[in-house]
Formats: sequence, C-alpha cells, structure tokens
Amino acid sequence: MSDPIRVGVCGAKGRMGAEVSTAITESPDTELVGAIDVDGSVTELVGAQVVVDFTVADAARSNLPEIAAAGIHAVVGTSGLTESDHQDLTAAFAQSHCLIAPNFAIGAVLMMRFAELASPYFPTAEVIEMHHNAKVDSPSGTALATLEKMAEVSKTWDADPTQAHSIAGARGGKGPSDIPVHSVRLKGAVAHQEVRFGGDGETLTIRHDSLNRASFMPGVLAAVRRIVDMPAGLTVGLGEFLDI
Ligand code: NAP
Repeated sequence: MSDPIRVGVCGAKGRMGAEVSTAITESPDTELVGAIDVDGSVTELVGAQVVVDFTVADAARSNLPEIAAAGIHAVVGTSGLTESDHQDLTAAFAQSHCLIAPNFAIGAVLMMRFAELASPYFPTAEVIEMHHNAKVDSPSGTALATLEKMAEVSKTWDADPTQAHSIAGARGGKGPSDIPVHSVRLKGAVAHQEVRFGGDGETLTIRHDSLNRASFMPGVLAAVRRIVDMPAGLTVGLGEFLDI
C-alpha cells in the first residue's frame, strides 16, 4: 500500500474542522499531520500535501495564498468566497490545486446535477432551502449554485403571475432567471433543500437532507484523494471531482 496522504486541517476546533480531523485520522489512506485554528499559523502545516479549510471567509482569504505559496493543495468548504476571490485564487494556485465546494455532501452534488437535467423540461421551478436557525446568510451557497446551474441550462422560465403581495417577500427572493428561492430557518434543522418543478399536470420534487456533519465527510475524503493528482489551478464545485 502507498504512503498515506499527509493532510492538515485549518479551523480544526470548529464544528466541521473537528469532524474532518477525525475522518482524516480514521481513514487508512490519510494521515493528519497538522491541525490549526484561529490561534495557529499556516507554517505549522508545511508538511502537508493537502490542507482542508473550514473556517470563515476572511480567514480563508488570508490562509489560502500562504498554502498556495507553499505548493500545498487546498480543499475548501468555507462559504462566502466571491467571484473576485476565485480570480485571486486562480492566480495564487500556480503550483498546486485548490477546490472550493459549496457542498461536500455527495447527495447534494447529485441533487444539483438532477436539477440541472430537469430544468429544460419544466416551465416553472422554485428552490426551498432549510437550515438550522444559527445560519446567518441566505440563501445558502448550495441554493445559489443550484439556481445558477438551472438558469444556465434553461432560459425559458414562465414569469411569476403574482401581482398583489399582502406580505412582502411571501413569494421568496428571485435568483438567476428570476427563479424563486425561499430560505427557511428552523431550530432542529441541519441542511435541507428541495427543488420543485411544475409542468402540465405534473410536478417533480428533488430533495436532499444532510442529517448531520458526517454527510460531508465522504466528499471531503474523495476530494483529498483526487486533488493530489490534479495539476495547478482552481475548481469550484465537487461535481467535477466526482465526474458527476
Ligand atoms: P465554526 O464551528 O465556526 O468553525 C470555524 C473555525 O475556524 C472556528 O474554530 C474558528 O475559530 C476557526 N478560525 C477562524 N479564523 C481562523 C484562522 N484565521 N485560521 C484558522 N482557523 C480559524 O464553523 P463550521 O460550522 O465548522 O463551518 C465552517 C465553514 O464551513 C463555514 O463557512 C460554513 O458555512 C462552511 N460549511 C461548508 C460546508 C460544505 O459542505 N462546503 C458544510 C458545512 C459548513 P474561532 O471560533 O475561535 O473564531
């Protein structure tokens, strides 16, 4: 058997970082060689081949260029990185690869792909995402990525016929191509999303539920295994890594 992949974790004391550290330690083909949090420094991770980052956007903006400069690959789950960050990271990762994925749950990646496949066949669709009540942003990165994919493959969505709103916002927000998106925040929820399509005499609902943080670990481990053979550059979204 070949040597285990050496992995560092950034944000290791956080909810996701702690789960990733355990998954890396328990997997026979990966080895945890460093784990830092807000009080640590990226220099502690120099022995790693891959760094997994689940922090906050500002921390990722400062840590990722250092990881790139050290020639280490990065698997990033941190949300809030923008198109302009992606451009900066494309330039920074000149020796190694960086994957940024809005959702590491393999079922969620499939949900986005299925929504993309269904979009050209339906004139109306709405996205409903549901998360725990500690989530501070809306809509979720997964909902936004889903809407972008749906709008990219179909331009012929029916216009919303609603003319009177007795409560503002009742029809949700409007994403790309004006597809409505609704963000639900509930105590007890984890991360859930439905993509609902409507056509003549039929509806189609595609639903994904993350029931706990373990749901993200197979995707993180798959990304760590794949990224060590990737050329320099940036990928956004886990689908390409899974050939979905
Ligand atoms: P969390 O529990 O708040 O964890 C973030 C950790 O990063 C905290 O321990 C934080 O420390 C630490 N941190 C802050 N600045 C840092 C720095 N400069 N260097 C190193 N560590 C630093 O949050 P979480 O629930 O684990 O989520 C983390 C991120 O992953 C969020 O952006 C979330 O939206 C995202 N997420 C993505 C997925 C996905 O599949 N892509 C799934 C779930 C969550 P302090 O608390 O001391 O500041």
